[in-house]
Amino acid sequence: MPTLHEPAREIPLSATYDVIVVGGGIAGVAAAMASARNGARTALLERCFGLGGLATLGNVVVYEPLCDGRGRQVIGGLGEELLVRSVADLTSTQKQIQFRPAPPCWRDGGDQALRRQERYEAAFNPFSFQMEMEKLLGEAGVELWYDTRLCACLRDGARISHLIVENKDGRSAMACGAAIDASGDADLCALAGEPTETLETNVLAAWYYLIEGGQLKIQAMSKRFPDDASERDTEGPLLSGVRARDVTRHVVETRAWIRERIANRRSKDPAVEVHPFALPSIPGFRMTRRLASSFTLQMGHAHQWFDDAIGMTGDWRHRGPVLTLPYRCIRAEGARNLLAAGRCISSAGRAWDACDLRRHRRGRRNRRSPGHPQAWRRLPRPAGGRPAGAVAPATRDPRSGAGCAGGGLISRRLQPGSGRR
Ligand SMILES: Cc1cc2nc3c(=O)[nH]c(=O)nc-3n(C[C@H](O)[C@H](O)[C@H](O)COP(=O)(O)OP(=O)(O)OC[C@H]3O[C@@H](n4cnc5c(N)ncnc54)[C@H](O)[C@@H]3O)c2cc1C
Repeated sequence: MPTLHEPAREIPLSATYDVIVVGGGIAGVAAAMASARNGARTALLERCFGLGGLATLGNVVVYEPLCDGRGRQVIGGLGEELLVRSVADLTSTQKQIQFRPAPPCWRDGGDQALRRQERYEAAFNPFSFQMEMEKLLGEAGVELWYDTRLCACLRDGARISHLIVENKDGRSAMACGAAIDASGDADLCALAGEPTETLETNVLAAWYYLIEGGQLKIQAMSKRFPDDASERDTEGPLLSGVRARDVTRHVVETRAWIRERIANRRSKDPAVEVHPFALPSIPGFRMTRRLASSFTLQMGHAHQWFDDAIGMTGDWRHRGPVLTLPYRCIRAEGARNLLAAGRCISSAGRAWDACDLRRHRRGRRNRRSPGHPQAWRRLPRPAGGRPAGAVAPATRDPRSGAGCAGGGLISRRLQPGSGRR
């Protein structure tokens, strides 16, 4: 490809934060809440105009289980708080639009036997959930920057010192003590020069609403893909979520597919009016690019304990398996003040998909985690005096930050290198 030299220029330093979170999906929202609730001056950067990423802007409204499918809750903390808040305005199940409050058996004192049958999951109204998250971030004191895209970052030795962003003010720099990559696509990790891995096997997928005969209905549409997304047993075209042409192709081709499906429905009964209602405003890429740290979580690690555990997750496809998430799979190894959250942590194969969810762990109920009856008690104790950007001890306050991976939360308190309060 021919290249052109872009002249260097001075840019304004627009803000300074202890922690900057890139990406306002569920992972970024949780990370920012955890950070701000722990007293760090926190900013959340989001390129779109709403919170929730794939979950809300992509209409992927199912909040996958917080339990192991065998009646035990393995995720608590912020993951549970967000699930509860996501369906706070629902009073009943409405199948056609996938409104589904969490099963009553998972309330305190609920029927233990029923918990083996009904998983601790819910399905939310994406618009209510977006607004609820905005409220939660405001209450936590997070500074929100919409329409703001991360474009580059500056490093000062083994630390990220500034994030370069673009928005309506043009291009500017934000100074940070620590940074969290919750972009879903490991954009910040890649820009910081950390090792990453990219999957080129994403299939066309889109969840959308339509109105048929006056009834609102949700439609989940996806080409076939295997349990392990790195396998190529998929229905083409196979796309990368981190190549500009593929991103546009995904959007255009899924919309053409939606048009075709609506035309089919109309042709079945011309007397019934069918209209598209809420299209996804973010492409349905499942696994795109992730941090590749020296440790990569795999399904083979199910039921293993790690001394640097920050949380746990079950497997949304299968009942039984439980993965413990070690801190190593969210920590960058080059930049010491950089963590990943959500679907871009260091995990592979089915574990990537299992972690690729908006859920987390930690919290009192982890005491019941299989294989680790005292799991949360074994998290590292306070040590103090950590280097810039290191991770501080876990705290037992379930509000202060659940472990993360899928919906990615930051389970431990960040101690940014500058401006710590
Ligand atoms: C078709 C499909 C179906 C799914 N079904 C389910 C399901 O039923 N249940 C479930 O729990 N999970 C499901 N998932 C997975 C789940 O949606 C995601 O894994 C989860 O929502 C990821 O959250 P996240 O916050 O890590 O990433 P995302 O939701 O991708 O959020 C990333 C955010 O970062 C922003 N961003 C990206 N780059 C930049 C940048 N450079 N600068 C600023 N902002 C940026 C994006 O706009 C976005 O808001 C599904 C996924 C797909 C694709």
